[in-house]
Amino acid sequence: MMTQVFDTPEKLYRALPSMDLLLSMSALQPLLQHYGKSAFKLAVNQMLTAARSEIADNGCLPQWLADEGAVFEYLADQLQASHRHSLQPVWNLTGTLLHTNLGRSQQSQAAIDAVTSVMRYPTPLEFELQAGKRGHRDNCISELMQRLTGADGCCVVNNNAAAVLLMLSAVAAGKEVIVSRGELVEIGGAFRIPDIMRQAGCTLVEVGTTNRTHLRDYEAAITDNTGAIMKVHTSNYHISGFTASVDEASLGKLCRQHGIPLLSDLGSGALTDMRRFGLKAEPTPQAMLADGVDLVSFSGDKLLGGPQSGLIVGQQALIDRMQRHPLKRALRCDKLILAALEATLRHYLNPQTLDKQLPIMAKFARSQSQLQAEAQRLISALAPRFAPQYQLSSISCNTQVGSGSQPDTFLPSVALAFSATNGGSVLALERHFKGAARPVIGRIANEQLLLDLRGADDFDELLNELLSLGNAL
Ligand SMILES: *Cc1c(COP(=O)(O)O)cnc(C)c1O
Repeated sequence: MMTQVFDTPEKLYRALPSMDLLLSMSALQPLLQHYGKSAFKLAVNQMLTAARSEIADNGCLPQWLADEGAVFEYLADQLQASHRHSLQPVWNLTGTLLHTNLGRSQQSQAAIDAVTSVMRYPTPLEFELQAGKRGHRDNCISELMQRLTGADGCCVVNNNAAAVLLMLSAVAAGKEVIVSRGELVEIGGAFRIPDIMRQAGCTLVEVGTTNRTHLRDYEAAITDNTGAIMKVHTSNYHISGFTASVDEASLGKLCRQHGIPLLSDLGSGALTDMRRFGLKAEPTPQAMLADGVDLVSFSGDKLLGGPQSGLIVGQQALIDRMQRHPLKRALRCDKLILAALEATLRHYLNPQTLDKQLPIMAKFARSQSQLQAEAQRLISALAPRFAPQYQLSSISCNTQVGSGSQPDTFLPSVALAFSATNGGSVLALERHFKGAARPVIGRIANEQLLLDLRGADDFDELLNELLSLGNAL
């Protein structure tokens, strides 16, 4: 198949190897066997199409048709690229730690081990080993949540949106649910409180105004058909100025007087005091329950640091109603999620080691001076590799929590900043970084590519990744 470069196009086209020839070439048999015939043929067809356009454009055969070895390399690269998993690991150096588009919370080693084990072996998901009878899949999480929050029990579903839908459907379908106008939030995507109310078969009764709602507003809205009062934690925005809202303790009292359940969509659901990291105090489910809220729902993969899930904790009678609701069967979690969630919650039993065990806490806990020292080390090793097209420096930046949590709180951090100098281009560098073996995702600001180091998982690995990116410029 090797032909001189200066033949006429007709000769060159005829010199292209046939599919049959390539299928029978012994050098290519390993690829054929590994990827299967249909993927192999697809890659060969794409290779031949690319070769034809090379002939049309440049009047010569491409280099990768030079010999068997080159064809093998070309096809191996193509096949490997098309078989790359789409959910591959990336470096989240965007400056947003709980990035919804990048999969939110990373899991602890214990959670990873627990998931691997239940994937590999049968496990008593709905079986009580000692009693030898059927058990409930939420039991284990329920017991842990009792210990951690004082709740009677817990119901676990696939995310907090599902938790809110189930909570409303099981507790207040066909009835009125009273919500403050200041809390009719949109969380992102299609999750809007009025829509979810309608979906759950509840009639939304809005009270108060955008900036001020009083206890008397709630009281005046209570009718014989009131099914619940709901509080929504306005986690992703903040109103300031002339504002008033009613706290859970006051609403709890009002609800008990009228025999109405009080529900709370808490959103992030931090179980510990986030102020130790310089973040704002987050309302915790345990505080809500102590204030008299009957059911509290929150996400498992925001500040909790676990897998995507939605947890509802609270009063046993209401938990039972949700467990019996047909929607629960549709929204229940699988064993992988439950295993990861259990392992995550177990870390909370030992607050002393929590910040080391949970990756999100470890990242919150990094100090700016520690990040500055890592930045210096990276810059010394990397600067020569990126010169002369790019200049490296370190700058102070702010890390955001993400996932709508604490939108106006920032953790002081340090970013590696790449500026284009001799013929470099920040946009081209950003693309180059995204093409890495493990894509490096930063952000561009003030014509610099910034890599916020608070999001790095391991600095030695990051150094190696960036060294090879520098070499491949
Ligand atoms: C994030 C959030 C949700 C949605 O939770 P998911 O786990 O993403 O489904 C609902 N309500 C509030 C207040 C939130 O912050």
